[in-house]
Order: sequence, then C-alpha cells, then structure tokens
Amino acid sequence: MTQFIYNSMTHKKEKFVPLEQGKVKLYLCGPTVYDYLHIGNFRGAITFNLIRNWLEFQGYQVTFVYNYTDVDDKIIKRANEEGVETSVITEKYIHEFEEDFRRLGLKKHDYNPRVSEHMGDIIAMVEKIIANDKAYVIDGEVFFAIDKFEDYGKLSHKKLDQLEVGQRVEVDKRKKNPHDFVLWKPAKAGEPSWDSPWGKGRPGWHIECSAMVKAILGESIDIHGGGVDLLFPHHENEIAQSEACNCQKYANYWVHNEFINFGAEKMSKSLGNVITARNFMEKYDAEILKYLFLSAHYRTQMSITDDKLLQTISALNRIYSAIALAQTTVESVEQAGVTDNNFVKKLEDYDVKIKKALDDDFNSAELISYVFEAVRSFNALGFANKKKRNVTHKGASEAFLAWIKKYGQMSALFNADPNVILSRLDEILIDMKKIDRKQVESLVALRSKARAEKNWQEADRIRAELEEMGVELFDGHQRGWKVKVSE
Ligand code: AMP
Ligand code: ZN
Repeated sequence: MTQFIYNSMTHKKEKFVPLEQGKVKLYLCGPTVYDYLHIGNFRGAITFNLIRNWLEFQGYQVTFVYNYTDVDDKIIKRANEEGVETSVITEKYIHEFEEDFRRLGLKKHDYNPRVSEHMGDIIAMVEKIIANDKAYVIDGEVFFAIDKFEDYGKLSHKKLDQLEVGQRVEVDKRKKNPHDFVLWKPAKAGEPSWDSPWGKGRPGWHIECSAMVKAILGESIDIHGGGVDLLFPHHENEIAQSEACNCQKYANYWVHNEFINFGAEKMSKSLGNVITARNFMEKYDAEILKYLFLSAHYRTQMSITDDKLLQTISALNRIYSAIALAQTTVESVEQAGVTDNNFVKKLEDYDVKIKKALDDDFNSAELISYVFEAVRSFNALGFANKKKRNVTHKGASEAFLAWIKKYGQMSALFNADPNVILSRLDEILIDMKKIDRKQVESLVALRSKARAEKNWQEADRIRAELEEMGVELFDGHQRGWKVKVSE
C-alpha cells in the first residue's frame, strides 16, 4: 500500500512520491524563542514526531529540520524589557524548549538551525532574488515584488485583488504593490543587526525558513509543515522567495496542523489563554498531553476541557493496567511462554488496520483506537485469576508487550513504568475531582473499625458513602482506596 498525504495546496490527499527514492526531506517551522511554549505550540512537534517515526518505520530515511527563530521583534521587546542582550533571552528559551522536548520524550530532530547562524545564507538568497528581478531595494530595505512572481497565492489560493490592504497598518507608499513584503530591513538603534550589501540590518521573518531549508535540505523538499496560521502569509511568502531564487518547486507536500483551542478560542499568547507545556506536564503529565493530541487527527481542531482530560486519564489507566498485568504475568510464570496463535492473529489484524490508518494521512486517532482494541482483546483472555495464569498467558503477554512497544516508540507513548504512571494518574484524579483525602482516609479508618467490630451494616454504609464520593476501595492498592476511573 502507499502513503497518502493531505496537501494543503491542492486540498486533496495525494499519493506520496519522494524526490529521491527512499528518502524524505522534512521541514517544520519551529518556535520563536522568547518565552515558554504553550501546549498548542507542541501540537506540531508531537504530530510530526509520529509522522517522522511512521515514515522511518516504513523504511524511509528521514531528515527532519526544525528551526529556532532567534531574531524577531518579540525577542527584542522582551530583551529591552529585561534590560539584557537578545542572546540572553534566546539562550534561555532554547534551553527551556529543549527541556520540554526532552520531557515529552520526542525523537531529536536532525537539525535545529538558528536564524542568527544563517545570516550569510539569508543575505545570499536575498541577493539572488534581486538578481532574478523579483525584489527591489529602497533606502536600505529590500522588498519582494509579488507582481513579478506569477504564482503568488498558489498555496493559500488568495487572489491578489482579494487581499485587503491597509486596514490596520498604514500602507508603505514606497512599495510597488502594497502586498510586497520585506526581505531585509534596516537596523534601528538598540536592535541586533548584521552587515549586508544594503547596509546594516536584519532579515524579514519569512526569508529565514527559505534560507535554512536551502542551506540544509536543498532547493526542493518533500514535506513542509507548520500550524494552519502559518499558511498565509508565512508559507505563501516562503514559496515566493524560494521559487524566485531557485527557479525550482519549493515543497511537494504542505502539511498543516489545526489549532488547539481553549474553550471556544484559539490558544494564543496574545489572548492570554495559554497553558504552558511546562505547567501542563507538572500539573498533569507529558503522557496525557501526547495521548490527548494524538487521539484526534492533526487536521481537526481540538479543545482542551476537563472532560477530555478525564477521558484521557481513564484511557491511559486502562492501557497501562493491561501493560502492568502483562508484565507481572511474564514475571510470575516461570516456564517459557507459548504462542497464543489466536491472539497473535488479532494483533496482526490490528497491524494491518493501523497501517491503513497511518497510510491515510497519518490518522493517529485510528492508531489510538486500535491500541485500545488490542488492550480489550488482551483483557478478554481471562487473566483475572492469578493462580490460573499459564504459559499461554505468558506467551500472549509477551506478544502484547512487544506489540504495544512498537506503537509506543512510534508515538512516544506507553513507555513509562506502569506502576509509576498509574499512581500518578490516580493522584491527578484526586486533584481534578477535588477529593478530600483527609475525609476519605477517616472514612476508610472508620470502616476498618466497623469491620473489626463486625458491624457489617455500618461498614457497608461507609463503602456506599465513599462510592458516592467517587472513591473505590481497592485491595492491593498502596492506600487501600483510589478514585474511580470512569470508562
Ligand atoms: P509561534 O512561536 O507563534 O511562531 O508558533 C510556533 C508554532 O506553533 C507555529 O507552527 C504555530 O502555527 C503553532 N501554534 C501556535 N498556536 C497554536 C495553537 N493554539 N494550536 C496549534 N498550534 C499552534
Ligand atoms: Zn517558517
């Protein structure tokens, strides 16, 4: 079967044909490093981690580039506010990004270029665009001449006459077309700047990605990704610059992830409704974030709600409980495991279905749902009675563990120690459901006392009261009780 990818340029799922057989050149626009990133910013990194791993699993050799924008107005503003050099800000937030990335357990990118390290490439590219008569210079400022680039608008399908001008910003009268955008701008006092043929200055935003793509991956790449907000103007302008410079098609497949919303609105720093990835991972867990994102297709919008978080916790609880059961079964049966052909056949069926789902524009939602089905099939094997666990159960457990590890590596999920994460999920539930531990513990103690006094009626009454509070009494749990996980 063949890989299909939804191309934002054609609005169609297209068969994936790499530029070079067996290889994939992949570029994803990365963050502007002036603050902690919010969870929405990580949807791209989490999605493309799966995309990359899946393509590699299919035998492709993937080169994945994810940049850091370390030259930008927002960085300069932040540095001025704090009275430090911009590099102090960028170093700090690159470091914090790397820490988030490490905690998320995503696979390292092959390259994380920084704009500041590619000034020579940027300047050379602007020079070439001018030489190709697609850009012009006015007072030390270089503009891209969109009227000279016939294909302008081919990604966003915007017609030039439909573009609105000057609603919020005053039109720069020096421009030949009001939509001409900046490739290079002159230095202002107190801002970082670099020498160029047009005087001291710094690059416009869009040119950086075009230049880093060219320097690292070449003039044409297979897949270019980013959030939907980048489609216009950022990616439209990247195409214009790169194709005006190289006279080659820039990227064959444009892949855009939809937004993460908070309530009805896009999660965004300017709206002030963000949860940083760091806070999320501290309050909840990296595993919850990854599961939550991958349980929806990357092209659907997703709202973060308490209900969704509770469902995710319940699902992870179920999956990790099965992993824990499989591990203890493998440990507790001494003889070698015997293959359970029926169960192995089921896992192979899920493999086929998962391949179909991921080949169909990386449908991670279906991947997750088949993992869940595999868990259901595993639980249905009848492990409940510890004494009856046998060599076939051991064989099935080994097959299940190997199977889930494979998809876990692909999605950066299911790699945690089950006991550690199960108790963490339990703690999170206690907080989320605002369960009063002291009250629960005193009821549990009262119930033990009632039982010791053979006051069964009172013991039952307390059990019912705890149930009402969403608490389940649990043999073998360290506390003796846990929060009920809804299915
Ligand atoms: P920025 O640092 O604003 O350039 O954003 C970095 C990346 O995060 C870009 O690919 C954006 O498209 C993406 N992004 C920003 N906000 C969200 C959101 N709420 N949901 C999903 N992606 C987002
Ligand atoms: Zn970019």
